[in-house]
Amino acid sequence: MVIRSLPALPPPVGDERIAALAAELSTLRPVREGEELARLSSDFHTYSPVLEPLLAPCRAQLAVRVHSLEELRRVASACARHAVPLTLRGAGTGNYGQCVPLSGGLVLDLSGLRRLRQLDPVSGVFTAEAGITLAALELQLAEGGRSLRLAPSTLRSASLGGFVAGGAGGVGSLRWGFLRDPGNLLGLEVMTLEPEPRLLQLDAEASAPLNHAYGTNGILTALTLPSCAAVNWQQLVVGFERWEAALDSLQELGHTAFLLNNAALLEATVAAALPWPAGCAPPPAGEHRLLLLAAPDAMGVLPAWLAVRGGTIHWREPQAGGRGLPLRELCWNHTTLHWRGSHPDWTYLQLLLPADPQPALSALRQRWGEDLLWHLEAVRQQGGARLSGLPLVRFRSVVALAELIDHCRSLGVLVFDPHECTVEDGGMGQVDHAQVAAKAAFDPAGLLNPGKLRGWLERPPSA
Ligand SMILES: Cc1cc2nc3c(=O)[nH]c(=O)nc-3n(C[C@H](O)[C@H](O)[C@H](O)COP(=O)(O)OP(=O)(O)OC[C@H]3O[C@@H](n4cnc5c(N)ncnc54)[C@H](O)[C@@H]3O)c2cc1C
Repeated sequence: MVIRSLPALPPPVGDERIAALAAELSTLRPVREGEELARLSSDFHTYSPVLEPLLAPCRAQLAVRVHSLEELRRVASACARHAVPLTLRGAGTGNYGQCVPLSGGLVLDLSGLRRLRQLDPVSGVFTAEAGITLAALELQLAEGGRSLRLAPSTLRSASLGGFVAGGAGGVGSLRWGFLRDPGNLLGLEVMTLEPEPRLLQLDAEASAPLNHAYGTNGILTALTLPSCAAVNWQQLVVGFERWEAALDSLQELGHTAFLLNNAALLEATVAAALPWPAGCAPPPAGEHRLLLLAAPDAMGVLPAWLAVRGGTIHWREPQAGGRGLPLRELCWNHTTLHWRGSHPDWTYLQLLLPADPQPALSALRQRWGEDLLWHLEAVRQQGGARLSGLPLVRFRSVVALAELIDHCRSLGVLVFDPHECTVEDGGMGQVDHAQVAAKAAFDPAGLLNPGKLRGWLERPPSA
């Protein structure tokens, strides 16, 4: 049985070296102690009762914020020369402890690098700096009639660099799949961590190993991505009395020609605990809820399509210009956030269900009953319609959680384990040698976010 622990790492560097680094970076006004340093050393791994105690003692020794490539170059050079670990940070909303420094050192806040450099009016391809918030980016893209293809439910706060380095997908995954699918990341500008940092331009192929690598193998300074035509998405809340009817509808939607940007299904117990947008009544007892973002041109047919399947539209409001809570913030890991607000002793999992999800869902329901509550998201994976699951889990013990994960895997469910903090163990479970090779090329001393890339720790001594 897995009893989780952090990887063995060298102890944090001594105070003298940190003092020398702080002195060299004094014009950037480094933070060396206090609540601000604690805040900059943490993220949203606290949804995991396994990671929380493990990561609680992990603290940066120094934090700085940069506003230009020149300032960034100074920090990267100084960290390389003083051999001080460097952990990159966008908005710090990651759930896997991605930007918690396991081995002290310096945390670098990149939120000052926030320019949209270019938007091609014909292709819609854009290049933006890593620290820009997705909300600010979305506003600027909208001026050109464009929109992000993919966005996490944390769109309001998350950064573009943090999303690509630490996120996976979210709103839009129903149409565009996941960030690591070919075509979703077209290029990167990267700074190396060396005494003389280099600024490199990578094409799509060379960028792939830095996509979802937790900032372990290069500092992303700017990212080039495709956008899509902006749509005034209609937010719909649909109620179902029967779980089976709601689940069938969610699955069938993936095989229709309705233009949708998100489709999430919440079982009744979960739906009852969420806040609902102004004007949308909470669900009556026992009602399951399907949350949709649908294009205006779907609205002629979709209501009747849903009604035939037992769905009743309770609320409809356009996303653009909508006031208060957007429906997006009841989806993806926002569901977990709201649920944990009233159930702090619960946690969650991140799953990709098999192409036919019903047998696995039935088996899990039968074995785990009320300890496992369902939140499903429709997604596209390698071109096919699939269901992703972010079920809420009553936390009883680390051992019971490991048993649940093993049970999921035995049913053919892919688990992206949010109770692990390495790239590999929170992902496909395997070392990606291209990620390790990129680290050797762009971070030869292994100073970026130490401990998070298992393949680097396990590489043969000669590599
Ligand atoms: C309520 C909630 C809902 C969420 N919903 C989603 C969702 O729908 N989809 C999803 O994918 N995730 C989701 N997440 C996780 C998280 O929000 C996303 O991964 C988000 O995109 C992270 O952005 P960030 O700027 O906060 O990154 P951070 O947390 O700051 O960083 C994430 C990782 O990227 C690295 N990094 C940051 N900037 C750079 C850079 N410039 N160069 C290299 N590495 C860098 C960091 O070191 C860290 O390892 C959710 C989290 C919460 C708390």
